[in-house]
Amino acid sequence: MKCRICGKKPIIYMPHHRLALCKEDFISWFERYTERTIKEFKMFSKEDKILVTVSGGKDSLALWFVLRKLGYEADGFYLHLGIGEYSERSKEKVEKFAQRLKAKLIVEDLKKEMGGIPLLKDITSREACSVCGLVKRYNFNKVARDYGYTVVATGHNLDDEASSLLSNVINWNIKYLGRKYPVLKEEEGFVRKVKPFCKFTEKETALYALLNGIDFIEEECPFSEDASSIFYKEILNRIEEKFPGTKLRFYLEYLRKVYPRFKEEGERDLQPCKVCGQPSPSEICPVCRLREKAVNYLHGHEA
Ligand SMILES: [Zn+2]
Ligand SMILES: [Zn+2]
Repeated sequence: MKCRICGKKPIIYMPHHRLALCKEDFISWFERYTERTIKEFKMFSKEDKILVTVSGGKDSLALWFVLRKLGYEADGFYLHLGIGEYSERSKEKVEKFAQRLKAKLIVEDLKKEMGGIPLLKDITSREACSVCGLVKRYNFNKVARDYGYTVVATGHNLDDEASSLLSNVINWNIKYLGRKYPVLKEEEGFVRKVKPFCKFTEKETALYALLNGIDFIEEECPFSEDASSIFYKEILNRIEEKFPGTKLRFYLEYLRKVYPRFKEEGERDLQPCKVCGQPSPSEICPVCRLREKAVNYLHGHEA
């Protein structure tokens, strides 16, 4: 096999694109493809102020890197989730990377505010990943609004998107099918949310991060070990092995054929939360209720 551009020995073959590329040509292809995805979905322009939410993992750090390389105004946001050593190590990686980029990084500490994920998981009946997703979405939007950003960009890749699509299809979660899109427009109380890496596989983002010497945290969050998302990713990878190209097609054909039909189902009836003012499905938003519970719990244990 040869690099399609220059004929040298390839570093990667992507069966879903029928494309083999060498190191240099993969890097420039990856960057052009990111730009194309941004334009295709009208995600943002050079005039936008973008907040990239970084976890310390390969996807979010690579996204931050690429967006700045492409000339976008992109700052970072790290939410310290209070998950022991894992959070400490990922915070270190993010801070070092911000220095390398000479970029602005905003850091907030969930532990100070409401006790961190381990506690929140214990005081609710929800799975850790579900509580974590809730407080992340809340904080991303809140911080973006407080600091005047117009767009929140996350590093979700094709494996993330296709596996969550699969689990929601299997459960016929119709509401979800109307909300899953790489760009969610700004609406009352919400800034725009985008996923510029939605068409890259995990393998592709990892390779790009490695080739650019990005020092990311490799270990998974300790709570994600038995998360259902990992199981769905494995299933998709097995299908992909047998029928190359399925993963990308599953996702893209959903965007083209299914999403438009369910868009109305995804619409929500929201009001400003009476406590924090963020959009909420009820008078007091789920995060404010959670915060109250956590604060009460912590006070009870001090006494
Ligand atoms: Zn080449
Ligand atoms: Zn609230």
